[in-house]
Amino acid sequence: MPDGSDHGCHGGRETLLAAAAAAGKAEQMESLLATYPRGPHDQPQSMCPAFGSLRVGLRMRRVATILSGSACCVYGLTFTSHFYGARRTVGYVPFNSETLVTGALFEDIRKAVREVADPAKYDAVVVINLCVPTASGVPLDRLPKQIDGVRIIGIDVPGFGVPTHAEAKDVLAGAMLRYARTEAERGPVARPRALSGDDGRIALIGELFPADPMGVGAMLAPMGLGIAPQIPAREWRDLYGALDCVAAAAVHPFYTASVREFHAAGRPVVGSGPVGVEGTDAWLSAIGAAANVSAERIDAAKAAALPAIRNALAANPINARITVAGYEGSELLVARLLIEAGAEVPYVGTACPRTEWSEVDRAWLAAHGAHVQYRASLEQDVAAMREVRPDLAVGTTPLVQAAKQAGTPAVYFTNMVSSRPLFGAAGAAALAGIVAAQTRGRERFSQMVGFFSGVGTGEAAGYGWKDVPSDPPGLRDRMRKMREARQRANEAVGT
Ligand code: SF4
Repeated sequence: MPDGSDHGCHGGRETLLAAAAAAGKAEQMESLLATYPRGPHDQPQSMCPAFGSLRVGLRMRRVATILSGSACCVYGLTFTSHFYGARRTVGYVPFNSETLVTGALFEDIRKAVREVADPAKYDAVVVINLCVPTASGVPLDRLPKQIDGVRIIGIDVPGFGVPTHAEAKDVLAGAMLRYARTEAERGPVARPRALSGDDGRIALIGELFPADPMGVGAMLAPMGLGIAPQIPAREWRDLYGALDCVAAAAVHPFYTASVREFHAAGRPVVGSGPVGVEGTDAWLSAIGAAANVSAERIDAAKAAALPAIRNALAANPINARITVAGYEGSELLVARLLIEAGAEVPYVGTACPRTEWSEVDRAWLAAHGAHVQYRASLEQDVAAMREVRPDLAVGTTPLVQAAKQAGTPAVYFTNMVSSRPLFGAAGAAALAGIVAAQTRGRERFSQMVGFFSGVGTGEAAGYGWKDVPSDPPGLRDRMRKMREARQRANEAVGT
C-alpha cells in the first residue's frame, strides 16, 4: 500500500488524486467527482469537508462514528464537533507511516469496528477515511457489511474529492440511504416512531431549523399530506420512513447522492422550498403534483398558507440593498425571501454547485435582478460586496470581517439561518424581521465606524499603546541603505 503520510492539505489536489488512484481508489474518486463536480472554481473555501459527514453521524441516535486520518485533522474535526455541541465520542484509529505502508492501519480499523459494534448500543458504525488514508488506498469497502446486526458504513471523504462540508453531509446520508434501501428491498424493516399524513408523506432533504418541518407539515395538512422523517436522519429507522415517502423535497439542493437513492426507490424529487408568497405558491403546486393531489386540495393548502405569509412580509418590510453569500445550500431561498420582503439583492454567492433542484430559484432570482454565483469563492463574494456597496452584507465569517472593516453592516449567514425558521409565515416574520432590524440600524453603524476610525488599525493595532509606537532610532535609514545596496548588487550581476 503506498505511503500517503507526506500528503495532507498541503499536498495539492492533483497529487492526492493521483496517489488515491494509484492506491486502488480510482473508481471511488471518479464517482465523487461525478457526484460533486468542481467549478467554475477549483475548490471553494470552506472548512474541512469531512466535518459534514462527521456531523451527520454524530447527530444520529445509536450510531458510532470513527475517524481514520492524520492526528492534526482529527484534532481539528473533534474540536469543531464539540464546539458545535456534539456531546458524543468521536472514535479515532491513529496510524503512522509504518501501519499505513504495511496495511496494518486497515487491520487496526477492522479491530476497532469489531470492538465498537455492540448491538445493545448501536444500530450502525460509521468509519470516515480522511485525506491521507484515502490517498493511501485504505480499503474501507472491505470492512464487513454488518457485525451482529450492527451496520458498518465505510466512506471516503477526502478534501481533494469532496468540495464542501455541505456535500460531505450528503456522502454519509446517501451511503446510509443506499444501505437502508437495500435492507427494505430484502424484507420488512423497523417502523419509524411517529408518522402523520393520511395520503402520504413528504421527505424533506436538508438540515433545517427544528420548527421548520413542523411549519411545513401544517402547510401540507390541507392536501392530506404529512412529513416523513427528514434526511439527514436522526436515527436508523428514520431512513426507512424517509424512503417510504410519496415524494422527496430537496430544499437543500446539493444532496445529489441522497436524491439518487430516492429516485432508485421510485420517489419523485421536487426542488426549491416554501419561502415567501411566490415561492410557497409554486412549491405547494409542485409538491401537490408530485404527490398526485387534486387541484382543489392544492388550492385549499395555498388558501390556508399564503395570506399569513403575505401579512408577515408586509409587517416586516425591508428597504435595503443586500448581498447574500454562504455555504449552507439555502442561500438562494434566503435571497428569494428577502426580495419578496422588498430588498434589492444584486448578488447571491453559494459554495454549493448548480443542480436541477435549485434551478427554479436561480431562474426566479435572475428574473428579479440577482446574479447567482454557484461554487462562489471568497474573493468573488468580497468583490461583489465592494462593487455593490450593500446596506447589509449577509455572508461567511471572512466576508463579514471584510464588510465590517469597510463600514458595511454585516451578519453571518449561518448564525442567521440556523437560529430561526425560513419557511412559511414563521420564516417571513423571523428572517425578514431580523434583516429589517439590521438594516434599520445602518446609520448608527456608519456613525460608529466614523467614531472609531483608525482605532486599532495600522500602527495602533494591538493593545496597551498609549501613543503610536515610535521606530527604533535609525531603523528606517538603515533599511533604506540595505535596500539600495541590494539593488546595486542586483544591477551589478545583471538581474
Ligand atoms: S482531512 Fe480535512 S483537514 Fe485533513 S488534510 Fe484533508 S481536508 Fe485537510
